[in-house]
Amino acid sequence: MDKGYMGKVLWVDLSSGKIDEETIPDSVYVKYLSGLGLGAYLLYSRIPADADPLGPENILGFLSGLLTGTGSLFTGRWMVVGKSPLTGGWGDANCGGNFSPSIKRCGYDGIFFKGTSKKPVYLFVDKGKAEIKDASRFWGMDTVETEKSLIKEADCKKPRVACIGPAGEKLSLISGICNDLGRMAARSGLGAVMGSKKLKAVVLGGAMRIKSHSPDKIKKLSRTCNTATKDQSQFIKGIMSARIGTLMRVLPTQMAMDGKMYISMLDKWGTASMNQISIEIGDSPIKNWKGSNKDFGTEKSELLNPDVFTDSVFVKYHCYSCPLGCGGICSIKGKYSETHKPEYETVLAFGGLCMNNDPDSIFYLNEVLNRAGMDTISAGGTVAFALECYEKGIITKKETGGLELTWGNSSAIVALVEKIVKREGIGDLLADGSKVAAQKIGNNSMQYAIQAGGQELAMHDGRNDPGFALHNCVEPTPGRHTIGSQLYYEMFQLWKKIKGLPDVKFIYSKNSKYLPDREKTIAAAACSKYMNVMNGAGCCLFGAFLGANRLPLFDWLNAATGWEKTPDQYMEIGERIQTLRQMFNIKHGIEPKDYKMSDRALGRPPLEEGANKGRSIDIEKMIGDYWEQFGWDTKTGKPTDACLKRLGI
Ligand code: SF4
Repeated sequence: MDKGYMGKVLWVDLSSGKIDEETIPDSVYVKYLSGLGLGAYLLYSRIPADADPLGPENILGFLSGLLTGTGSLFTGRWMVVGKSPLTGGWGDANCGGNFSPSIKRCGYDGIFFKGTSKKPVYLFVDKGKAEIKDASRFWGMDTVETEKSLIKEADCKKPRVACIGPAGEKLSLISGICNDLGRMAARSGLGAVMGSKKLKAVVLGGAMRIKSHSPDKIKKLSRTCNTATKDQSQFIKGIMSARIGTLMRVLPTQMAMDGKMYISMLDKWGTASMNQISIEIGDSPIKNWKGSNKDFGTEKSELLNPDVFTDSVFVKYHCYSCPLGCGGICSIKGKYSETHKPEYETVLAFGGLCMNNDPDSIFYLNEVLNRAGMDTISAGGTVAFALECYEKGIITKKETGGLELTWGNSSAIVALVEKIVKREGIGDLLADGSKVAAQKIGNNSMQYAIQAGGQELAMHDGRNDPGFALHNCVEPTPGRHTIGSQLYYEMFQLWKKIKGLPDVKFIYSKNSKYLPDREKTIAAAACSKYMNVMNGAGCCLFGAFLGANRLPLFDWLNAATGWEKTPDQYMEIGERIQTLRQMFNIKHGIEPKDYKMSDRALGRPPLEEGANKGRSIDIEKMIGDYWEQFGWDTKTGKPTDACLKRLGI
């Protein structure tokens, strides 16, 4: 088979110990690609509607992308899928690193786990053999210790490991799955599903070749894409980024962002490049979403400037097949010989959101949470929730065990996170995220839990870019920031490849961003469809920022498979995957309108000062218009029979 995909998945029943292969017909890849789409196809029909996400009926799948290992670039993402214990509906998360190609080198597009083991185990696959092995001695270890120990023990060349840490073992609903000593498939709480199955890790050897239809064509396309990635100008100093943000805030007009500019910043600093700009323009929420750049101005954010997080990098970190390398491995004298550079989301979740500008605490928290296997976005959002509850007197020193949870008190924030990781004292209450904690605390505290469908929102404020607000609410995995926004649409430049999509003016009035017009929902639906194709291919979001003309996604897919599909036909596949994920939620009793995000983050009431002053989002209209783009019922969000028939679902 020379089509980029392997045509098989592995099924592991942890209750019975039975391991089977399943051949997947070509027709499934034609309709759903691999990765996220294949995961949705297999799980939709096989997880019963009333399955407990932490019970044996839930299925957890690890999938590679269709393009992974074919010679295409930016295509080293792996995906984990299952019923989310955090939202109760469809759960997925994806991650970079070097784990993804190993799934295919073992001969599979995906490895799926059902049932529950009685004792801790891990799966080892190499040379065509899969074995369930005892993991009792690794249970309790953090993710870094686990990965290092399993690599030492594995009898194969270049073993790759995905594992949980203590957070997943303790069934924290905000736990994720780690690889490469600190990269994490963090969202949807799928680390807890792994913990509930007593599955500590997946260890893969594998040396199979991944064959494509036209490898030479893929190489040629990759060479051109590589040139576009490298063709960057040197950028400014980190400390200057705040000034750029301030300028962007005060100007009444805005320039459409060409993603090449952002790629240049990613190349230099990684996601930390946005630390100060985002605060200044109102992209980054402050003080649990009730503050603004007025509360956390440049004099405070200066200590979080991009250089602070990049100066200690001694080697850039590249995921598999990535020409950019936005990550970094840092060495901090007297503290860590090696630690991953904190990402923008982590810096701002424990920075502006908690009014904390102590970078040492953020480096430390990043390492603690990566080792625990806990989502830094949800953990930061939950800590900000706790700080506000403390401010309002809803929780007191009695509950916190003496911690003074005041805004920006970095030592108390660190101590609280350590308790959350250990589920100790108030940490046990907070270890399942802010919504669950608010349900237990009561006393009107739910208004301070800033989330959508139970998942804490990432550090992108819909009051600055309403596209982020819309995707937080309409994604079948709610609270998702990696699918679409007005900014992403500008950078994706899909109108250059797909007929009929609105283009973006080079200069536009900032006020026009806040009109909930039809063009914006057409753009939002296009982002969703495109990102489902990206996630079926295993492609990194940051590659998409190059623009659809420079990232040859559709051409790579055709060259890998031998298909001759048009960009429109690929977008229809994206639409099918989105619709099936929505159907999964409906099957599991989710009302799509219940995934609406917290009022405060929608500007209800609007902020009285700062970059987002006076703004509120007409989200109900935007949601209805978005659903219409898919042919779903505009009132309920349920795909209509006509839509399902058109898409062949
Ligand atoms: S851009 Fe960054 S996250 Fe994306 S594949 Fe490259 S290194 Fe990984």
